[in-house]
Amino acid sequence: MTIIRGATTIPEDSAEEIKKAVKEMLEQIESRNDLKRDEMMSLVFTSTSDIHSYYPAKAAREAGFAASGSLFSAQEPDIDGGLKLCIRVMIFVEKNFEPQHVYLRGARHLRKDLKPKIKIAIDGPSGSGKSTLSKALARRLGIAHLDTGAMYRACGLKVLDSGVDIRNETAVYDLLLGVKIDISYENDEQHTLLDGVDVSEAIRKPQVAMAASTVSTYRSVRYHLTEKQREIAGRMSCVLDGRDIGTFVLPEADVKIFLTARPEVRAKRRFDELTAKGYAVDFNELLKEIMRRDEQDSTRATAPLKKADDAVEIDSSSMTADEVLEAIMKIVKEKIS
Ligand code: C5P
Repeated sequence: MTIIRGATTIPEDSAEEIKKAVKEMLEQIESRNDLKRDEMMSLVFTSTSDIHSYYPAKAAREAGFAASGSLFSAQEPDIDGGLKLCIRVMIFVEKNFEPQHVYLRGARHLRKDLKPKIKIAIDGPSGSGKSTLSKALARRLGIAHLDTGAMYRACGLKVLDSGVDIRNETAVYDLLLGVKIDISYENDEQHTLLDGVDVSEAIRKPQVAMAASTVSTYRSVRYHLTEKQREIAGRMSCVLDGRDIGTFVLPEADVKIFLTARPEVRAKRRFDELTAKGYAVDFNELLKEIMRRDEQDSTRATAPLKKADDAVEIDSSSMTADEVLEAIMKIVKEKIS
């Protein structure tokens, strides 16, 4: 089963415009996906609340679509900053293929209509809550989340597993050049693949974090991963979290947040997170490791951990995750409305 999405806009709410736009969108979907009409099992339409004159599903039937399949139309809730006069469709097709989604007349995918390709940079030290916050923020905005630390961790893991001397930059870079790091998403969850193997869990071990911090001091490794991060960010609206997103990876980001918290608070969060996963960890060791990583991350020569001049700093030491999210949502709305 494959789901193809489409969206289009109309210049005014009239039956004629709705019929024309629906026909054009479905014909485009049909030709770009090389589909036959009887392969479309069901078509689900939604339209913004300013469209009343005609049911898009009826327009589809009249244009000769879904003669035997099911059709459905519903009204969308109003979304702050969303497109006006917009019709969207999801088409269920009973075969598996890479769908070509179709967006016409300025319409864009779901909440990505807030602004073309929004980039949000969340930087800060280890344990400041960047990952939790970035994930929640991306979900709230309906855009992707890229945890860039996971990419450095995957490199750290590779070096640890290979036995290469981590202090030897040339050997580390040579090793990493032959390595494939991919990011995929399942139910909105980021999965990090190292040479095709899902290492999302393995990279969370404390020893991997320290190795990540060491390899991330190497300029060659940073440039390599930065290029990949920019390439991913160029494809879609997303929240990127890391150390150097606002200063180096995406200095043009629309919103920049620098999230901090006191070291003891950060160590306690990491302690709770790791013990909940069943790792036996010592609080004082974690605190020392966090301080060592802070020092290493903020004093390295290339793209050190540092607040961008135009970033908003938030100290989350005495805030709950929900409070941080609300504070950031407020900033996002102000900056991109
Ligand atoms: O964020 P996380 O703790 O998973 O990152 C692991 C390590 O990767 C950090 O300590 C840092 O050294 C490095 N890193 C980086 N630049 C980024 C993200 C992570 O140097 N953008």
